[in-house]
Amino acid sequence: MDLRLNDAVMNVELSGIRRFTYLVRDTPGACALTIGEPDQNTPGPIKEAAKAALDNNNTHYPPGNGFPYLLQAISRFEAEHHGLHYGPDEIMVTVGATEAVFVTLSTLLNPGDEVIIPTPAFGLYEAIVRLCRGVPVFLPTEDSGFQIDSGALAASLTPRTKAVILTSPNNPTGCIYSKETLDAIHDLLKDRPVFVVCDDVYRTLTYVDGYHSFAEYQDMRDRIVVVQSFSKPYAMTGWRVGYVMADAAVKSRLEVFHQYAVTSVPAFIQPACVKALQTDTTPMLEIFRKRRDYVYHRLTDMGLSIQEPQGAFYVFVDVRKYGMDSITFCERMLKESLVGVIPGIYFGTEGYMRLSYCYSDEDLKEGLDRIERFIKSL
Ligand code: PLP
Repeated sequence: MDLRLNDAVMNVELSGIRRFTYLVRDTPGACALTIGEPDQNTPGPIKEAAKAALDNNNTHYPPGNGFPYLLQAISRFEAEHHGLHYGPDEIMVTVGATEAVFVTLSTLLNPGDEVIIPTPAFGLYEAIVRLCRGVPVFLPTEDSGFQIDSGALAASLTPRTKAVILTSPNNPTGCIYSKETLDAIHDLLKDRPVFVVCDDVYRTLTYVDGYHSFAEYQDMRDRIVVVQSFSKPYAMTGWRVGYVMADAAVKSRLEVFHQYAVTSVPAFIQPACVKALQTDTTPMLEIFRKRRDYVYHRLTDMGLSIQEPQGAFYVFVDVRKYGMDSITFCERMLKESLVGVIPGIYFGTEGYMRLSYCYSDEDLKEGLDRIERFIKSL
């Protein structure tokens, strides 16, 4: 009996980040600095809006793209806060940014199409490209300060290149692509049939002025897809809701995958998403800014080499001088000093570790003390 499953699925492993997170969780007494979600809870008014929606029996099938009032609210929010102009017919509410990336790549790729993924990168992209039978093409950025070198990008482009993925602020580096970087990418791509997927899920968590998204290059509007999420800015990771914005012609095709995979996102969370868009995220930003400063200074005082994070809530630390691969380094640190971080190789870059500062001041201090003890012991 031939029970052969889909080769694309059989060839993709479950996330290494998850595996390591569970290893840390199951290590007694370990202090975790692993997680990629705000430690705060969802703000009360957002939860109240969902409760009220349930009480009002907002429990029936909603429209596939999302309720029109939510699409309107997102359209207004993006115009007012980010200067991006997408009409309600160019927006689709998704099951987190994860589904947004999934429907986007599923819609763009034919088998064998290449997708350029600047590394280090969130592992989701490689997995989805492979599931779509596309070919991930990795573009290392560690030698260019985690900016994309336009010469290297030019050398990676081939007639099979279908898309480039830009994540800014970046997971795991916390870096933001500079205007110069984006201009150079735009120069290279503006006359090519190549899509740019802007994963901007951390854009409200930026600690520097002058943030620019590639989505601003509206002369390429027919080839830009913007992915967004409610997870990070509003501490709503468990709600599983995000959205995607694209020129109407592309967006109308994204709906096909979405419709047959999930139908729509749950009805009663959609009024809560409108409330979320009205939430002032500055207090949370200030908490993360203070933590970033603390973590950055502690690590540099230990003599570790880091690019100062400009956004998100991660630090990507160079540990190459200790002469171990990143999994060995992180496993030893967990075993010997009971502190858990994520090996850089899970983001496609060897010799680094990712540390998250989604933890209380006390936990961060304890975790950093343990890291300090570990590296002194080496
Ligand atoms: N994109 C990036 C860069 C992320 O770091 C994450 C989650 O960590 C996601 C997308 C997925 O977010 P969501 O919770 O909206 O699916």
